[in-house]
Amino acid sequence: MSFEHLKLIEPILQALQSEGYTKPTPIQAKSIPLILEKKDLLGCAQTGTGKTAAFAIPVLQLLNEEPQTSGQRKIRALVLTPTRELAIQISDSFAAYGKNLNLKQIVIFGGVSQSSQVNALRSGVDILIATPGRLLDLMNQRFVHLDNIKLFVLDEADRMLDMGFINDVKKVIAKLPPKRQTLFFSATMPPEIQRLANTILVNPTKVEVTPVSSTAEKITQGLYYVDKPQKKHLLNHILKDQSIVTALVFTRTKHGADKVVKDLNNSGIKAEAIHGNKSQNARQRALSNFKDGSIRVLVATDIAARGIDIDELSHVINYELPNVPETYVHRIGRTGRAGLSGVAYSFCDAEERPYLKDINKLIGKQIPLLEDNPYPALIEVAPPAAKKPQGRGGRSEGSNQGGRKPWQNRR
Ligand code: AMP
Repeated sequence: MSFEHLKLIEPILQALQSEGYTKPTPIQAKSIPLILEKKDLLGCAQTGTGKTAAFAIPVLQLLNEEPQTSGQRKIRALVLTPTRELAIQISDSFAAYGKNLNLKQIVIFGGVSQSSQVNALRSGVDILIATPGRLLDLMNQRFVHLDNIKLFVLDEADRMLDMGFINDVKKVIAKLPPKRQTLFFSATMPPEIQRLANTILVNPTKVEVTPVSSTAEKITQGLYYVDKPQKKHLLNHILKDQSIVTALVFTRTKHGADKVVKDLNNSGIKAEAIHGNKSQNARQRALSNFKDGSIRVLVATDIAARGIDIDELSHVINYELPNVPETYVHRIGRTGRAGLSGVAYSFCDAEERPYLKDINKLIGKQIPLLEDNPYPALIEVAPPAAKKPQGRGGRSEGSNQGGRKPWQNRR
């Protein structure tokens, strides 16, 4: 995926190129097309994910498409953000991505004299980036009029709440024209923020990126040591549990995904695969069958799974462990969303032990072992931490000596 695929106009593409951006981050790839379609958006993403560009780029393009009527520029986009630092950063981003466009922006925040901000407002701007307190102040003094707002971005909504700005935010929102596009960003969704989102967004599309630093605490994780040929039997066994309402099963390869689907269908469990070799229509069909409950199991490769948005997923099953540890966190983060609890099981065969070691290192703990299953691994491997204390991908594992099961070595 490149920025060219996102239907961005040439002046913006050139600006991104001079910023050194070669490809969109996941939040950008997901959000930019939706915003360009004028949809409301609920974005769950933290700073560091590229979320500023995810809204700034399409806001610039939309404003550019709709030229100003004659006379002085009127504020058509408002970005509210909690801190002065963020406001300046956002303003710098708008300036960078919009440098080849004829749009004007200013940033206003408290703690400094208002006179230069008022002068800039008087000369007319298209985009206003503001912290809530100073904005309200200037609105009350009638230096700011929000009647022409077409696009409203609320950035870091949860921090607004933490910092005690939420009432100011609500007062600003009350002055916005009801007919507008709203983009709502928050790293977390406490109930009050969810309620606010529900009241100000119209049919929003939710876009979420999982922070890679920590594994979501509310997800129950479990690990099965299993020999490769037994994985299909273990999967069948697990899926007998009818409390598994929906399961997203991950494989590393497209071929692997097809094989899992075939094995499941042979055992009478309805499943479909989504991966890069399937047509867009076939993927869409599989996804809607999964969402409406016609199939209980969807098998996906990591790349194909990136674009899918499923709420209320009860189980993730890592049929094959990913060779990039961050991918593990992304995979399991697909369950346990929107405050729901979730379960993530992982299968690990002898060859995958180095991957497991990297995952445990990344998440800072050992995935709890599930020993109660009819297909325990018989192929012996050395315990991951015992032989090689440091380093990524040390492959001392895989030897097949002795008759002990892997978990017997562990403690
Ligand atoms: P943010 O999450 O918006 O605070 O962005 C984090 C950092 O990533 C900022 O320094 C951006 O300049 C940078 N950034 C945003 N999008 C991209 C991209 N597509 N490629 C490279 N860097 C980016």
